[in-house]
Amino acid sequence: MTVLPYEEALAAYDPVLGLEVHVELNTTSKMFCGCSTVFGAEPNTQVCAVCLGLPGSLPVVNAKAVESAIRIGLALNCTIAEWCRFARKNYFYPDMPKNYQISQYDEPIAYDGWTEVVLDGESYRIDIERAHMEEDTGKSLHVGGVTGRIHGADYSLLDYNRSGVPLIEIVTKPIEGTAAKAPQVARAYVTMLRDLLRALGVSDVRMEQGSLRCDANVSLRPVGTTTFGTRTETKNVNSLRSVERALRYEITRQAAVLTGGGRVVQETRHWHEDSGITTAGRNKETAEDYRYFPEPDLVPIAPSREWVEELRATLPEPPAAKLKRVSTEWGFTDLEMRDVISAGAVNVIEATVDAGASPQAARKWWLTEIARRANEAGVDLSDVGVSPQQVAEIQTLVESGTINDKLARQVFEGVIAGEGSPTEVVTARKLAMVSDENALAAAVDEAINANPDIVNKIKSGKLQATGALIGSVMKQMRGQADAARVRELILEKIG
Ligand SMILES: [Zn+2]
Repeated sequence: MTVLPYEEALAAYDPVLGLEVHVELNTTSKMFCGCSTVFGAEPNTQVCAVCLGLPGSLPVVNAKAVESAIRIGLALNCTIAEWCRFARKNYFYPDMPKNYQISQYDEPIAYDGWTEVVLDGESYRIDIERAHMEEDTGKSLHVGGVTGRIHGADYSLLDYNRSGVPLIEIVTKPIEGTAAKAPQVARAYVTMLRDLLRALGVSDVRMEQGSLRCDANVSLRPVGTTTFGTRTETKNVNSLRSVERALRYEITRQAAVLTGGGRVVQETRHWHEDSGITTAGRNKETAEDYRYFPEPDLVPIAPSREWVEELRATLPEPPAAKLKRVSTEWGFTDLEMRDVISAGAVNVIEATVDAGASPQAARKWWLTEIARRANEAGVDLSDVGVSPQQVAEIQTLVESGTINDKLARQVFEGVIAGEGSPTEVVTARKLAMVSDENALAAAVDEAINANPDIVNKIKSGKLQATGALIGSVMKQMRGQADAARVRELILEKIG
């Protein structure tokens, strides 16, 4: 058997998680040179001698990147090193032309932190081992194969625009005690981290563009034991939903291996979004394989305590404190708040409320109409293509009687299709409700004349028959009428 049913796996085994998140900083220039970091440029147009690793070129540290690293460390309650160095991580891969990556090894800029995530009303403490600085690699594109991997490809292309973009790697300590909730806790952690990094303003945290990437480690041990099992590291996980799915799959796969008397192999694994499985990658290298040594071309970093304290003063509200605050301010029930958190909708609702909508209206749109579209497209709420400001504008249009909820769905469709602002979509698609009383009255008259049987029923006291007449009027008005007003008119006229 390749996988064990999830419940069976959890009855026998206790998962231990480890999460490594890479975040690309949004500095305008790269970590060690002045090249631009803008995403999506023509391949190999944002490169220089330094980030191409040409002989004799020398790196210089980007001060803004160090500042962001310290702020991230502080936001995760880490100790900030008084003195630390960069290290060379030696390995060969074509997307890394120096044959080593400048990273940090035993002297990370931030270490020993913690944070917490809230899931189903329960709080989980996540200990942070370290947050260190490094440079991103270039990108390989393998052309001609079916899998997009180098095996079976006809040829490969390399783009070094990303080479040298500043990265912060945030590593948790082993996360224990989450049991069956492990995949959800992992997702909640990455969601919290994304929101925190966005609030810090240090990254655009777009998982689908790779500016936030998660490697998910998991191992299993028999329930009731304490020794860690052998872990695997799943790469390639590029959405919040995939973090949860990939871990869930990996737990059921490892459980099947262990139950069958086998051994879990320590290796990296690749997550396949379409088939929902992981497959074996390379055997995991150990630290020795990388022959780390201090980077001789860069001076050590020694942030003054005054600077660190200045940066501490710029931190946003911690995510857990924010949750407590908004749940009071919004007046949601516990159940409503739980749905909002598990949908990852806290920040979008907050922004929608800031843009003028009521909390309940904001919640309604994000958790129904927009959540449905996000699910269908397999993306996060913030990536559906409608902004909190646009949601607030749509709600204003509803409240002013320009459109109703049903028409609002067409407005969402138009906005997401790029047809302009909600007001522009209403105009272009002629969605505004008919407020012209004469037009409404004419439509009501027509419905009355065309349906004498229904009119007689209403006259004999069967008021529920009114619905059929309202339906007929609404159909004639293409849904663009206020149903309550139509009902009034019908009853007045028959009355
Ligand atoms: Zn460069």
